[in-house]
Amino acid sequence: SAPSTPASVDPAPATPAPAEPGPGSPRVRRWTPRRVLVTKAAVGLPHTDEVLRRAAQAGVEEVETVGRIVPPRTANEREAYAWAKSTLAVVVAPPSARKPQPIPPSADWRIDLARGCPAHCQYCYLAGSLTGPPITRVYANLDEVLAPIAGLTGQGHVTSGTAARGHEGTTFELSCYTDPLGIEHVTGSLAAAVAQVGTGVHGDGASLRFTTKFDDVAELAALPHGGRTRARFSVNAAEVAARFDGGTAPVPARLRALATLAAAGYPVGLTIAPVMPVEGWRETYGQLLDDVRAVLAPVEAAGHPVDLTVEVITHRFTPGSRDVLMSWYPRTKLEMDVDARRAKRSKFGGVKYVYPTETMRALRSWFEAEVPARLPGTPLLYLT
Ligand code: SF4
Repeated sequence: SAPSTPASVDPAPATPAPAEPGPGSPRVRRWTPRRVLVTKAAVGLPHTDEVLRRAAQAGVEEVETVGRIVPPRTANEREAYAWAKSTLAVVVAPPSARKPQPIPPSADWRIDLARGCPAHCQYCYLAGSLTGPPITRVYANLDEVLAPIAGLTGQGHVTSGTAARGHEGTTFELSCYTDPLGIEHVTGSLAAAVAQVGTGVHGDGASLRFTTKFDDVAELAALPHGGRTRARFSVNAAEVAARFDGGTAPVPARLRALATLAAAGYPVGLTIAPVMPVEGWRETYGQLLDDVRAVLAPVEAAGHPVDLTVEVITHRFTPGSRDVLMSWYPRTKLEMDVDARRAKRSKFGGVKYVYPTETMRALRSWFEAEVPARLPGTPLLYLT
């Protein structure tokens, strides 16, 4: 299923071009930005040099040092979107962005390697949490970003000690504000984090986790990951992905990447999201689970035990994310009708719109029955 493109925006400048396949390697989806902007503060940092090396190798010709990251002044909203989605900014993460936060139910703590994502999903989770044009900003002070891991190990709030996940130690989520694999081709941040944690640079007892809609995993597969990173693939029913994902790898390619990393010894996972109760949803999500089983069967048959988990996130939106998404994709067919939803208030007074109780109940009981039936031995960590 080819990913759809956004309804309103010509994504030509920003859509990842499928990489030229090397000898024997399958086609994978890689994002190559049109331009890389380096802030003055980031110039000369070791990870900046790595990003610039990767960008040069990827053929990026427009590289500029700037004081601040500002979109071109003449841009209208559509042009600003296209400019932002084809720009990689190399910036220094300020101390506020380096302070890990608890992030239930996914992980004990959140660590951000970057903020922003070049893909074009019409329900994008980032729409409500990041402000301004959707530029991807990668953090150049990677050592400082990863430094808190050692000190926080042992201070888990969410997953440490739970039956399904206690063996993972203290968990750190890398994909709250970006798709770390989607930008890896030109950043290298994920490989550095995985190898550092895998080889004990930050002590023992921590593990990383990330989720992605991309498939370029050859470099990760070869890393000394030490089994300390859970690679989850964000997948969906074929119809939902085909309608609403844009600029990502197609779901079958994500499943092949899942199998590749499972065979390389990574703990792996599925983030089934955003689940939508589309017509025939039981059949189409059932097919997805069956496809996962089929793609992992040869890995297990070859003698690699597969450590797979499942997380399920139903579609939701906030008033803020709805406004942003409607401005990016005004012709979207994505249902964001507050009257068809239940308003759920957070303890901080914010509101998010989730499916009505009956629908949630039906989804929950189906996934709770079908995940163990179709993927025996696989824990369903949560459904939210
Ligand atoms: Fe947003 Fe994830 Fe899609 Fe990127 S891949 S546009 S972060 S939903």
